Amino acid sequence: MKKPLELAHDFLAEIISKEDIVVDATMGNGYDTLFLARLAKQVYAFDIQEQALEKTSLRLQEAGLANVKLLLQGHETVDQFVGEVKAAIFNLGYLPSADKNIITKPQTTIEALEKLCRMLIKGGRIAIMIYYGHEGGDIERDAVMDFVSQLPQQEYTATIYRTLNQINNPPFLVMIEKLERYRHG
Ligand code: SAH
Repeated sequence: MKKPLELAHDFLAEIISKEDIVVDATMGNGYDTLFLARLAKQVYAFDIQEQALEKTSLRLQEAGLANVKLLLQGHETVDQFVGEVKAAIFNLGYLPSADKNIITKPQTTIEALEKLCRMLIKGGRIAIMIYYGHEGGDIERDAVMDFVSQLPQQEYTATIYRTLNQINNPPFLVMIEKLERYRHG
């Protein structure tokens, strides 16, 4: 069976092509940025830690990829940098190799999600990996679940992929798709 992060990648890879503009909302170590850069025309990657930009920049150089804009900016400002997007990915929580007090926060995460849902072109997708074992993580998890659960079903489909029998708060995946056609009734 696929791990949530593997499914997240498959879910996005299915729809991303070399014409597409996509967003990595939480750069972190840059694995997702690299993954997206191989598939898309242009990636916009966000993080508020210098360390994330340094690591990601190295990773991209090694791979010979130059189609990424690395932004030392909160993802809640995404609309200032990008217009329409085909896909986005979030990895919530803290970066294991860095300061564990620097975490994604409910208010800014929801603001970014709300903006990206609007910016998403039809058929576009968002994958959200929810890590919630840290202090405050449960509040952010609940805020994301609330937000996603309230997306209008005529316009979006939202799905969850979560292990049911694993201890220690395993991360889980929430997937959003903006529908090709507005569904009436
Ligand atoms: N928990 C995941 C990794 C999450 S990394 C795992 O274990 O694999 C989350 C990243 O989001 C961190 O690098 C952090 O600096 C970044 N971040 C926190 N707030 C942010 C914001 N408002 N905008 C963009 N990135 C943010």
